[in-house]
This record gives sequence, structure tokens and C-alpha cells, in this order.
Amino acid sequence: MTADDMTAALVERRRRLLGPAYRLLYDAPLHPVRGEGVWLVEADGRRVLDCYNNVPSVGHCHPRVVEALSRQAAILNTHTRYLHDTVLDYAERLLATVPAEIGNVMFTCTGSEANDLAVRVARSVTGHAGFIVTANAYHGVTATVAEMSPSLGTAVKPGDYVRTVPVPDVYRDGPEGAAAAFTRAVEAAIASLAEAGMRPAALLFDTVFASDGVAVDPPGFVAGAIAAVRAAGGLYIADEVQAGLARTGSHMWGFERHGVVPDLVTLGKPMGDGHPVAALLARPEHLAEFGARSRYFNTFGGNPVSAAVGLAVLDVIRDENLMDNAASTGRRLHLGMARLAERFPVIGHVRSAGLYMGVEIVTDAVSRRPSGALAARLVNGLRTQGVLVGVSGPAANVIKVRPPLPFGAAEVEIVLDRTARVLGDLEAQGALT
Ligand code: PMP
Repeated sequence: MTADDMTAALVERRRRLLGPAYRLLYDAPLHPVRGEGVWLVEADGRRVLDCYNNVPSVGHCHPRVVEALSRQAAILNTHTRYLHDTVLDYAERLLATVPAEIGNVMFTCTGSEANDLAVRVARSVTGHAGFIVTANAYHGVTATVAEMSPSLGTAVKPGDYVRTVPVPDVYRDGPEGAAAAFTRAVEAAIASLAEAGMRPAALLFDTVFASDGVAVDPPGFVAGAIAAVRAAGGLYIADEVQAGLARTGSHMWGFERHGVVPDLVTLGKPMGDGHPVAALLARPEHLAEFGARSRYFNTFGGNPVSAAVGLAVLDVIRDENLMDNAASTGRRLHLGMARLAERFPVIGHVRSAGLYMGVEIVTDAVSRRPSGALAARLVNGLRTQGVLVGVSGPAANVIKVRPPLPFGAAEVEIVLDRTARVLGDLEAQGALT
């Protein structure tokens, strides 16, 4: 069998066994068998540069994380109804990274569960029904948060208690009016809920707006909208599943860039370097309210192995200065991509915070029309060249770059070189005009 035949057989076997709801990324599906740092190794031995996966936050199979996991797995793993020091050590370390008002943590296994729990707490604390999310948001898989995830398209009907707001388009409209536009949109959503006899329980958004095409600037643009929701008696839930854990370079958490302390913070993906660890951070007065009326037990959330893994990830971020690295490498990547934009006008806009970058692909610099088709060709071209990126945004035309945090200058050069090569090839084929 050729390598292509083997891949085709695996794709077919997967479809037969797992059913049709799963999607594979890339025209040429990836079949990694090993990971190390920022690299993945495919079944045929090819190395590919991972610029897409923020889950292995401190690098694939980081030895300190693997060691912590194996050590605790060999001693004990159980659930959270027994006493255990490690989960409390981890809780202390996590809470030390957030403002003092946020004093409790509840552990879950996934970001979806963390958001689902945040929704329950917000309902319980406010007694209100309405939720406001962004127009192309993704917040997870449970029935409730899927209703608050318009990026799922027509697959899930949005809840009738959900209102959506557009994220400011700084590329086309400029940064000046972004804050006012976002505030106005949220005020209109509050008014629309009121017309339906509802008040907002919460404004919920991802602090880098990852699935809305990545929106990071200007810092603070969300403040007026949060104030409007609070004035209407609602809470602010910051979803840090994408932005969190040092990725933005300037801060540990995305909400800090905007200068407003949330009521509830949901965490996930990068916490466990690939192991399922997630959490809800909350203000004690809110959990006192919730806990008086509800119980919560999540079998695997906060188990000793997950807690040991989470602690090891925090240690690595600190000891390897990964937040500073995200800032410096992110800046280098941004500048390099902006230089490429001068050569290839289809790169309409480059936006980033640390190692979270969106590169908006358009048909031309004058019309600025989004080109999802071209973005898909670039993503698949880069995959063929051994560089993994993805897409985001309602028109799927924003290249999403969010590599593991130990990404360095040498890797930036590879990304820029391969991007230039793929765009150069597309230009030679006449695909850029
Ligand atoms: N929130 C955001 C912003 C996400 O990107 C995701 C996952 N892509 C989730 C929540 C859900 O997390 P999980 O897949 O761990 O349930």
C-alpha cells in the first residue's frame, strides 16, 4: 500500500466507526504519531511545524508534564469527594494569577463544562434568563452552551433567550469607534431582551474573539459593554479557553488586557498541555449564592492526576518565561507577517496579541472583500509545506495562528518563508488576482 492508500483506508475506517459528525482538518488529513515541543511527526516520518494547537500550550509531550502525570498516575487517581492536597495546591496557584475579587475555583474536564457551569451560576445569582454572546461565538458542546455558539451555524437553533452582537471590524471601520460600536450593540441586545420580558443574566465572550475572526484591539473596547450589562443586573463571563494562560504575552489572562475584572472566568484547553483540565473561577459571594441552592459533582474534574498536570504546566510557564516568549515571538511574527502583507495585498490585515494572531485574507486591498476560498488554499498549501494553521471568522477567511508557547525566532522564519512560498505559488498560478 502507498502512503496515500493507507491514509484513505484510515479515513474510511474512521468514518465507518465514528460516524459522520466529525470533521477532519486539511484536504490532506494529518496523521501525527509523535509530538515534541512545537513539532509533530507524521506516520511517514515527516516533521510538521505546529502553529495551530494551543492545547499543548507548553509544547507537545513536555517532559515535566509527562513526568508529573506519570508520577501521580502511579500513586493515586480518584475523584473530588475525597481530600487531596494537590488539587488545593493547584487551586491556590491558579487563584494567585487572578485579581483578589476572584477567590474560588471549581474544576471541570472541558471548557464546555466550565461554560455550562458559568451559565448555571449566572442564572442562579441573577435570577435572569438572557444571555448575550458574539455573532460567531463558540462556547462548547453541551446543549446549553451550543445554543450560545452561533458559529455552529444552522446545526443548533440559538436559544430564544440568546442575543448576538457583532464584534467591531477594526480592519474596515478603524479602531476609533470600536468601543462605542460594541457598547451600542450590547445595549441594543439588552433592549431586545427587555422587549421579550427578559433581563440579562450575563454577557459571555471569548477575550480574543477567536472564532469571530480574532479581535484584540483596541484594548479596553469591551469595557462599556460590560458596564451596560452590569447596569442591567447581568454578570460578565470571560471565556479564557482560547486566550488564557500567558498566550497574549502581556498578561496571564485575556481579560486583563481589557482592564475589567470579570464576575466569572472559564478556563480550559491550554491548562493541561493536552490532558483534559478545565475550570470555572468565580467570586466567593456568587458561589455562596449558587452553592446554597445547588450541588456540583464532576467525577473527573480536579482529580489528582489532572491537578498534578495543571501544576506542572504552571511551573513550566514560569520557569521557561513563556509569557515573555509569547510577547517577543508574537511581535516578531506580527512584524514579519505585516511585511509579507506589503508584498501580497491579499493579506489585508494582521492582528495579534502575543502568540494569538489573525491574518485576514481578502480578494484585494481596495474592496477588502473576505476570501474564504483563498484562505483555504493558503491553509492547505501551508499544510503541504509542513506548517499547520487554521481559519476563523464568519467568512472563514482569517488565518488563525496560535502555536504552542515555546515558539521561537527560528520557527517564525519557517512560517514566514512557507507563507511567502505558498502565496508566491498561488500568484504564479494567477490565483491572487
Ligand atoms: N470556549 C471557547 C472559546 C473554545 O474555543 C472552546 C473549544 N474550542 C470551548 C469553549 C469549549 O472547550 P472544550 O472543547 O474543551 O469543551
